[in-house]
Amino acid sequence: MYHERFNKVQPKLLIMKICSVCLQSDILCSGCSRKLDDGKITRTDIELSRAIHKISKEKKFDVDFIQSEEDSGKVFVVVESNHASRFIGPGGRNIKKLSQLLGKQVKLLEKAEGSEKHVIEKMIGAPILGVNKVYPQEIYSVRVEKRYARTVQPLADVISKILDRNVRFVFE
Ligand SMILES: [Zn+2]
Repeated sequence: MYHERFNKVQPKLLIMKICSVCLQSDILCSGCSRKLDDGKITRTDIELSRAIHKISKEKKFDVDFIQSEEDSGKVFVVVESNHASRFIGPGGRNIKKLSQLLGKQVKLLEKAEGSEKHVIEKMIGAPILGVNKVYPQEIYSVRVEKRYARTVQPLADVISKILDRNVRFVFE
């Protein structure tokens, strides 16, 4: 079991990822275009930022996100723990609205602080039995109870991308 902290995964906190002018327009200014070209932000980040902004104009929707990844037609959004409930909204209202605006299903991944086990547990929303680091490829083999396989297995790629680690799930 490893208890190394995910110090390398520093949240690239945005507030927001694009400037206030670009939030309200359909085109990007030269500064924001450069961020996109340099790979500091993605198209998904831009779409998501604009959708959040749109909702916040209609009602109070004071949220921010750390990272977004598109995978298998879904948008996974990494949000600080203290923003998670606001992001989802009462009865899932906010996250549903975001999904509508983006035309894709939005899934929230909560970013916790602490050990790898804790961080991954929060993201997958299922208890972890253990984490083994497999060398030489440095694969993080994460052991999860079999009954969570259906919901957790599809997250392997997106969790790997977010943590910048090679994460595999093993169900037992
Ligand atoms: Zn801009």
